[in-house]
Amino acid sequence: MEAFHAHGTFYADRLAGVSAWQDIPPLSKQALREMPVSADETLHETRSSGTSGVQVLIQNSASERRFRQALAYRPFLFYGLDRLDDNRVRQIIFVDGTAIDPVDKQQWPFEFDGRTYLTWRVGIAAVPEQILGLLQSVQPQVIRGLTSGIVRFAEEVAARLDGLGVQVVSTSGEQLAPGWRTLLSDAFAAPLLDRYGATETGSIAWQCPYCDDYHANSDELILEESPEGLLATPLFIESQPMLRYQLGDRVELLAAEHDCRIRLPKLRILEGRRDDWLIDGAGRKVSPLSFQFEKVVGLIAWRVHQLQAGDLKLYFDAEHGSSDSDLRQQLASQLTTIVPGRNYELLAGIWRLEHGGKFKRVVSDFDPALRN
Ligand SMILES: [Zn+2]
Repeated sequence: MEAFHAHGTFYADRLAGVSAWQDIPPLSKQALREMPVSADETLHETRSSGTSGVQVLIQNSASERRFRQALAYRPFLFYGLDRLDDNRVRQIIFVDGTAIDPVDKQQWPFEFDGRTYLTWRVGIAAVPEQILGLLQSVQPQVIRGLTSGIVRFAEEVAARLDGLGVQVVSTSGEQLAPGWRTLLSDAFAAPLLDRYGATETGSIAWQCPYCDDYHANSDELILEESPEGLLATPLFIESQPMLRYQLGDRVELLAAEHDCRIRLPKLRILEGRRDDWLIDGAGRKVSPLSFQFEKVVGLIAWRVHQLQAGDLKLYFDAEHGSSDSDLRQQLASQLTTIVPGRNYELLAGIWRLEHGGKFKRVVSDFDPALRN
């Protein structure tokens, strides 16, 4: 608490008169947006766009970023990858957007625990056959990234994926729907090991190859259950410190269970981010995580609704009101690229989407059978 107090007036004000940890007010995403950031080093910036639909600029120093990466790679220590040439791991990461890395892209290898990780990224809204082309060329041992995006690829591509040599599929970004685990594990003929984290806090927990449960990175974050959902206090972030940050997810902490050789405590995800599929004009599934709206400068929050008839409504809040034509143009351009062949309308004010709910930023009334 003292360290947070010393960070500046933001926490000094929030902690005034508070002596017990449980009396510290949880930090909302809105409050995080308003918190001043301090650091001596150059900051690396990235924007979150989580379950609430509100976007926050996340700023980490280079050393914090390295630490976050190491934490994200922690599960790799236990993945048991074999048949590696020269300890090199080739991984393909499914990210938002439509771009696909070329096979001969310039690599920035990540060195971790005696292995060298080479990375290619594919946009989950890209043409499935083009994604397949990269997979066949790269022959990755590891598939990582946005869960529904990998599901959409496995369902849409007209080819077998079980001969590619994939050894682990490691999903993230949204709660794993029933059936997705089996679908992906069968498609790639490899175990699926899920991860749980947030852009703001970094990696929170990961599924264990030995016991199948999720181990929490409790040595690096303080995790608490509360009426407001999971609260996280990362202990390695100083430039933009989060004290009892309110993620919104509902998680059960299983502090008492120590039946695995990995001694980290376990947790169970009860309710996390889970959006609906969108269906484009050609009847194809579109992952709700395909959009890159966090890159639109001035956009504060957004939600997408697909109506029963198939038309799309994009609700949004912007810093300078809703009449910014450049911002509207960027939103429309992304929407029509990612979900082609549908009529759409842009509407100011995300509060106008009544049945969005806490865990849905993309909702569909188009086909109830496709709801997650
Ligand atoms: Zn375990």
